Amino acid sequence: MMKNIDGKAVAEKVINECRNEISVLKERGVVPGLAVVLIGDDPASKVYVGSKARKCEELGIYSLKIEMPADSTQSEVMQVVKDLNENDKVDGILVQSPPPAHIDEDAIVRAIDPAKDVDGFHPVNVAKLALEDPSGFIPCTPHGCMRLLEDAGVETSGAEAVVIGRSMIVGKPMALLLMGKSGNATVTVAHSRTKDLAAVCRRADIIVAAIGMPEFVTADMVKDGAVVIDVGINRVEDARAKRGYRLVGDVAYDEVAAKCSAITPVPGGVGPMTIAMLIKNTVIAAGRR
Ligand code: NAD
Repeated sequence: MMKNIDGKAVAEKVINECRNEISVLKERGVVPGLAVVLIGDDPASKVYVGSKARKCEELGIYSLKIEMPADSTQSEVMQVVKDLNENDKVDGILVQSPPPAHIDEDAIVRAIDPAKDVDGFHPVNVAKLALEDPSGFIPCTPHGCMRLLEDAGVETSGAEAVVIGRSMIVGKPMALLLMGKSGNATVTVAHSRTKDLAAVCRRADIIVAAIGMPEFVTADMVKDGAVVIDVGINRVEDARAKRGYRLVGDVAYDEVAAKCSAITPVPGGVGPMTIAMLIKNTVIAAGRR
């Protein structure tokens, strides 16, 4: 029978684990702190930053929201990051992506103290992930996908996994996690230059789709009984929807669900896990104080 993987429920479980850890930290006199920097007024980024801050407040995490105007200079942003690196109340720093075009995002990420880089995007943390050094931070979205697989009881060891997408925030770290000692899968990474993607995907026991194209993965690309993790969040116009659009994943849910053994929905799959893992990383950072 097809299993719908409930990301909201698993995220709530992770959040509850964090609640416990936060109360243990508080007994030690440590209040975890997360600073989120938003440059400009991209509406989607505003929504993400708002929900991160609200979640922190709800959990008793010290939350600092720094909103900077769209015409902030590179050096102004660098100064804010530098101050946060030195702020003892702040365990985690994240700069909401994407910043305005004139900002060099890589330089900003490199300026964050790796010990406070709860997004796991700093080169030091990327290297630690590749090295399987647990003192780093694992990027939240792929980490959340691994947790979903684990909670759903999916055996990754020895499985054929196909990751579609090779971005630094999802595809690449996802492949590293699946192929590493926590996943032990045989991993293929597919991308925009892959030939006969459908045939590559049909080999997979586990497909992780992180492409950014609505309903791109169709039933003909999926083997019977495969497990499908849909990372995509795409807006498609829908005149009947209240806001004029609805959210769909990178997977054509209905037709793929009919074939696979387990699948994540969009919304309510990977999305809620990303913020849960961010909270987890912040708690881990505070625990290392
Ligand atoms: P990206 O644009 O950086 O990367 C997309 C990848 O897809 C690229 O590596 C590219 O090679 C590959 N690709 C493009 N066209 C392809 C094709 N025709 N065939 C095969 N591969 C192709 O995107 P991203 O940042 O990795 O995000 C991917 C999706 O995941 C987006 O929809 C994004 O909104 C979503 N996302 C969701 C969360 C979450 O919290 N659930 C977090 C991050 C990203």
